[in-house]
Amino acid sequence: MNHFDCLSEVRSEDADGTGQPSVYLTFDDGPYPFATPEILDVLAEHRVPATFFVIGAYAADQPELIQRMVAEGHQVANHTMTHPDLSRCGPGEVQREMFEANRAIMTACPQASVRHMRAPFGNWTEEVLTASVSAGLAAVHWSVDPRDWSQPGVDAIVDAVLDSVQPGAIVLLHDGCPPDELPAGADVSLRRQTIMAVSQIIPALHSRGFVLRLLP
Ligand SMILES: [Zn+2]
Repeated sequence: MNHFDCLSEVRSEDADGTGQPSVYLTFDDGPYPFATPEILDVLAEHRVPATFFVIGAYAADQPELIQRMVAEGHQVANHTMTHPDLSRCGPGEVQREMFEANRAIMTACPQASVRHMRAPFGNWTEEVLTASVSAGLAAVHWSVDPRDWSQPGVDAIVDAVLDSVQPGAIVLLHDGCPPDELPAGADVSLRRQTIMAVSQIIPALHSRGFVLRLLP
């Protein structure tokens, strides 16, 4: 799936140098007012940081959640303004999607430092990577995908992560949902499994000696 030059896992020499194996939790498609606060509560309870690849339009609607992410030590990253399939967008549109998302995040929280970008659906193209570089954003894919968005069950999400996690793993999770996939009347139940899974995954990773970190 990942044929291009984007980061899928963090090499040990790029970690923090303590020699402890690191895992990187990432959350896509938020901020989502029904679930993101609960994810932030779980992260706070366990005192671990995460990276949120937010949709710019949602960031504009939920600035207080962007502010909370930054205040609580998380990274806010770029997941485009409207979550299109960038491989179907022209070069101008690709740049505009990234630029507008950056601007929405910085407007929501001027203290945010946006340094990473993830293409919607993980659909990378040379054009997308070139636009990332010129926007000063590192392209970040993932190495562990428990498909939590499909609501396969809490145990299935937890097991999928714990079965395939390695030092340097980048874990893909979802605190929100793209606008065109959001069911009418959606609420916290849409991401309840993810919230419950994360509350089990973090202590399980800790007991295996992993440290959860921000992306380098
Ligand atoms: Zn997405």
